[in-house]
Amino acid sequence: MGMSESELIKRFDEAIANNYICPFYQMQINHSTKRLVGAEALMRWIDPVYGVQYPNDFIPVFEKNGLINKADIHIFECVCKFLKKCILKGLNLIPISVNLSRYDLLIDNLVEILENIRIKYNVPVKYLRVEITESAAVNGMDSIKKAINQFHNYGYIVEMDDFGSGYSSLNILKDLDFDIIKLDLRFFSECNNGREGIIISSVVNMSKWLNTPIIAEGVEKNNQADYLRSIGCNYIQGYLYSKPTEESEFEKLIINITHESAISNKIDSLYEFDTIKLWEPNSDGTYIFNNLMPASAIFSYNNHNIEILKVNKKYITELGMHLNEYDIMHLDHNKKFIDNYFEVFENTLQKAIDSKQEEKCIAWYQYYSKCCKEDKICIESRIQMIGTNGNEYLFLETINNITRQIHEYEELNLSEKRFRYASEQINIYAWEYDVSTKEMRPCFRCMRDLGLPPLLKNYPEPVIENGIFPADYADMYRDWHKQIENGVKELEAVIPLTPNRVPFLVRYTTEFDENGRPLKAYGSAELIIQNNK
Ligand code: C2E
Ligand code: CA
Ligand code: CA
Repeated sequence: MGMSESELIKRFDEAIANNYICPFYQMQINHSTKRLVGAEALMRWIDPVYGVQYPNDFIPVFEKNGLINKADIHIFECVCKFLKKCILKGLNLIPISVNLSRYDLLIDNLVEILENIRIKYNVPVKYLRVEITESAAVNGMDSIKKAINQFHNYGYIVEMDDFGSGYSSLNILKDLDFDIIKLDLRFFSECNNGREGIIISSVVNMSKWLNTPIIAEGVEKNNQADYLRSIGCNYIQGYLYSKPTEESEFEKLIINITHESAISNKIDSLYEFDTIKLWEPNSDGTYIFNNLMPASAIFSYNNHNIEILKVNKKYITELGMHLNEYDIMHLDHNKKFIDNYFEVFENTLQKAIDSKQEEKCIAWYQYYSKCCKEDKICIESRIQMIGTNGNEYLFLETINNITRQIHEYEELNLSEKRFRYASEQINIYAWEYDVSTKEMRPCFRCMRDLGLPPLLKNYPEPVIENGIFPADYADMYRDWHKQIENGVKELEAVIPLTPNRVPFLVRYTTEFDENGRPLKAYGSAELIIQNNK
């Protein structure tokens, strides 16, 4: 049953004195580990006559009538009492957030008042957090800035509540030194046009760059929580895990669930450098990344999901698709892999996680750009893990676009196939002679028709010995191989071959290395069709 405004005001003092006004607690859970990371205290008025009253019905009245300060300080004290009780019982504690109204920030000595209560109950400051709603900015930034500084001086964690609900969220992020962002999914549920996913993932991404963890509120369904986890937001508060519950119930909950030490968005760097330096526009890390590194990207990997966080100019040039940074970072990176190359790539990531070394991977991708339309490209990547944060990994990737080389190789392969096929048709025998080893490799047809093994050493002696080459041509043929060694480019003669002495046009073409030294000679013997036969 609802209470009227005058009833609320009339019975306010009584409600405080009798703890009708009291906190309910809602758990905050790490969705990846299912561990408890904290809780929020939410005000309730449990009236013996009117039943449970919810904040939306009485907080506006309190704010209008100046009762809110007393109510909020009362809740803060209840939370301290509760934490003290837990300490005495030897329970495992978690930090609890207390809400502050924007009207509280107008009290000059608010922080001292709260601090005195904390000291009275002797609760370590790490178990208390305060939530300041984004809309408090309507009072101007100064009172918020002052409050944050004072809270920080005493060691409190300060959360920005209802991020995204106001009109100047970005300015607030830029100007105010919050420790945790609270993002309410219910603000986004009205737009079902796909924009909410983009906004939420951008906020989560931005929070990583700022090293500010996000707690997502109002999460009711598992698929929402899974989505949030997939974009790197693990901390969840919502009906999915629990509704706000009264103190005694909540006490049971915190006994029965495993706890996690601290909320953190910090990527544990594996190296000397601080990964946040990579995001600072003027840091050495940024300069090196942008100007001195080869074509490189930094991407995060979490639960089969790849998200590119940063690329340099050379990376864009190397892709050669006329995409810009924005295009690249907003692609669905899991989908750009062709066939099973995502699996290949993931295997390499796992190797890099295990070995902590640079690992190589070649994969095919399908890219789309306005100018090039659809194109398949082959990228050789060298991948190294540079940081990790639980289930999330940060990688540095340097790339080499090897599409052209692959196509050239394929063309070569194809022309070799064509050649083999053609030689079958036109009665050509072919072989390859290695100048330095004097080894000869015959074509399939030589092996089949002339009974040659796949490799002949000390060439040409074996074919002279077995009589394929007639003795009277032997010296000439030996001399050819000397000439090849000395750098002759081509040789040609008609020689009667095989025991039947059939005339063949025998040819050699020599291949040289970049210094002009002979490497190999390609021999062929073409049957001369005798017209007079
Ligand atoms: P808030 O700070 O954004 O608190 C979260 C609200 O979302 C709570 O509503 C909570 O019960 C609700 N909620 C949490 N998970 C879910 C979910 O999965 N689905 C839905 N539909 N709702 C969910 P509640 O307790 O009614 O509080 C409403 C608002 O009243 C709070 O919003 C806060 O702005 C204010 N408030 C609550 N307690 C206090 C307090 O002690 N002091 C002050 N100044 N304001 C308070
Ligand atoms: Ca809140
Ligand atoms: Ca909120």
